[in-house]
Amino acid sequence: MATDFKPAIGKITSVNPATGEVLREFMLATKTEVFAAVDRAHAAQPAWHGLGVRQRINVLDEFRQLLHQRKSEIARLITREAGKPQVEALLTEVLVVLDAARFYLENSYAFLRDQNVPHRNLVMKAKSGLLTREPYGVIGIISPWNYPFSIPATETLAALVAGNAVVLKPSELTSLTALELAALLWKAGVPRDVLQVVIGDGSTGIALVNASIDKLVFTGSVATGRRIAQTAAARLLPVVLELGGKDPMLVLDDADIDVASSGAVWAAFMNAGQACLSVERCYVHRSLYQPFSEACARKAAQLRVGNGMDPEIDVGPLINERQLRNVEAHVEDARVHGARVLTGGVRRSDLGQNFYAPTVLAEVTHEMHIMREETFGPVLPIMPFETDNRAVRLANDSDYGLAASVWTRDRARGEALARRIHAGTVMVNDAVSCFGVSEAPHGGVKSSGIGRTHGIFGLEEMVRIKYLDSDRMPGMKRVWWYGYGESFTRQMEGFVDLMFARSWGKQLRGALRSAGVLKRKGKI
Ligand code: NAD
Repeated sequence: MATDFKPAIGKITSVNPATGEVLREFMLATKTEVFAAVDRAHAAQPAWHGLGVRQRINVLDEFRQLLHQRKSEIARLITREAGKPQVEALLTEVLVVLDAARFYLENSYAFLRDQNVPHRNLVMKAKSGLLTREPYGVIGIISPWNYPFSIPATETLAALVAGNAVVLKPSELTSLTALELAALLWKAGVPRDVLQVVIGDGSTGIALVNASIDKLVFTGSVATGRRIAQTAAARLLPVVLELGGKDPMLVLDDADIDVASSGAVWAAFMNAGQACLSVERCYVHRSLYQPFSEACARKAAQLRVGNGMDPEIDVGPLINERQLRNVEAHVEDARVHGARVLTGGVRRSDLGQNFYAPTVLAEVTHEMHIMREETFGPVLPIMPFETDNRAVRLANDSDYGLAASVWTRDRARGEALARRIHAGTVMVNDAVSCFGVSEAPHGGVKSSGIGRTHGIFGLEEMVRIKYLDSDRMPGMKRVWWYGYGESFTRQMEGFVDLMFARSWGKQLRGALRSAGVLKRKGKI
């Protein structure tokens, strides 16, 4: 059991990161309460599954309508609790979830339907094969604070529509948003025991991993993901791990500098750089390096930093002081080792406790933390390269492999390079926005995780595959059963020739030799 987490004592607090205002205090769910929640979920799940997929789809449809009606209110709540500008909350959280619901409404029925498995093995021809997709039972979901609505919602919708019950442990920093998600789903018709939220910190997460859940979908840091994987391995608990990223952006020599620099600035600073898909490393062809870096610095300096509730703001606060200190440490390490700060590189204490100026760094190297570890803050480090091969090597020189982007006027060249980058997603001429494509699988390679969420692959993670094999001739003993002997061996050699010999002649001789097997005597 993972035990290396010091629990907060009794209570956790939801705080507005822009103002420091305490939004609400919560009692931490104890281990006993988490175990009891999972037991209730087990008891409630069969009836939810028994409703059938069409009914569950209707509930999702109702949820979608309720969310649509309250879109702005929910976006405001996300901004108050997580700090991002309201329009980002609307686009990257509410809209993503509305579209994910649309995707599940449109695709779940066909996906969950039994599927015939035609086969070619002649000796098995009396069998009909069927694939059935069955819910795991209870899915545990542990989610982070940076997308406090869209991450737990997309995973929860997929789990529910497939017939599972869910016990969700949201980040201790964004409990209010998770409770609002649950309230919408309950109102839409999901029974309370089929979706439960257990409020708490890492200790609550540990309790959930150790409870009798049937699968865990975890989104968070690599360090926590590793600890969870160890605990899960001990009892072979299946897990999906959506972990951190250090996404590279490759700007090729034919890229449009104005477009690519605007893309870099948005993808590095949206959500104050606190996105798993943020551009965290930028590699630019030497011939564009100076104008591109200058354009990024100029555009970064134009961004308006402040409270996300103000519609004129581009970049909100970091989530808390700890996150801010992490960003400062990365920038300081880069500075000490020779990086040049083109803009930013300072706290914006004039705005409040958790603000940091959008920062562009030049002359960075792979020896610096800023190019190796996830920064999760508003920093864009830029490094030059000479050849496409070198750019690919730099992109792949990382423990992470969540996503990447290639920027070029030549799409074919971009796509060819994209195939050589080790990542779960590579975008050509855009970054981050793949999260808004509900059909696209989301997930990483290397330390960025295991498994996928979103799209059909995300649904696939929520079901167990069963192969249902039904023999059409119940009154007949199978030819391969006992009663072996010389003649049976010869017949079977003939049968193998019939199926796999290259020449027609040998196949025909094999057919004649094996024909007798149908009348084989002496079967036990
Ligand atoms: P975190 O790992 O600190 O916490 C994530 C969740 O795990 C929280 O709910 C937390 O309470 C819980 N937790 C902490 N310790 C635990 C333990 N020992 N056992 C079980 N649960 C535990 O991550 P965070 O700071 O909340 O989120 C930021 C990280 O998440 C970044 O690394 C980011 O890249 C990553 N992330 C990844 C994706 C993705 O889809 N790949 C998406 C968003 C965020």
